[in-house]
Amino acid sequence: KLGNETVKAELGRAAWKLFHTTMARFPEKPSADEKNALHSYILLFARLYPCGECAHHFQTILNKYPPQVTSRNTAAGWACHVHNEVNKSLDKEEFDCSKIGDFYDCGCADDETGSTD
Ligand code: FAD
Repeated sequence: KLGNETVKAELGRAAWKLFHTTMARFPEKPSADEKNALHSYILLFARLYPCGECAHHFQTILNKYPPQVTSRNTAAGWACHVHNEVNKSLDKEEFDCSKIGDFYDCGCADDETGSTD
């Protein structure tokens, strides 16, 4: 069966949006349990990503740049970096990771499980 580049790109945009917004809402001072949860989430996201070729490629990137989950800033910066690695391999422009701060907004009100600022 032939692939469909338009559908693959749409999935990618949706997935990246969820991925980066998850980092933007990760606690600034996560507990050990929260760090473990994000670490597992990232590895499973990479393993179960629906485009098999993409999943394989992303897992190779994660082997080189293991997930960084010690704080919100670290996680968001790391996610920006690995997305840029994917961008590079697809000949896309690099995103300026110093601008990641306010770019991903969940549109949700502050609650106990979310942001503390
Ligand atoms: P996207 O890369 O989807 O980015 C969406 C938006 O996010 C951009 O418009 C920009 O506003 C913002 N953004 C861009 N870079 C960053 C960054 N570094 N940090 C934060 N925000 C940023 N496609 C393939 O063809 N082959 C693959 O092997 C492949 N692997 C993928 C692996 C994963 C894990 C994911 C999630 C997607 C993968 N894709 C792959 C899809 C690909 O990355 C793009 O999502 C798709 O090509 C659409 O690209 P786009 O130009 O619309 O922007």
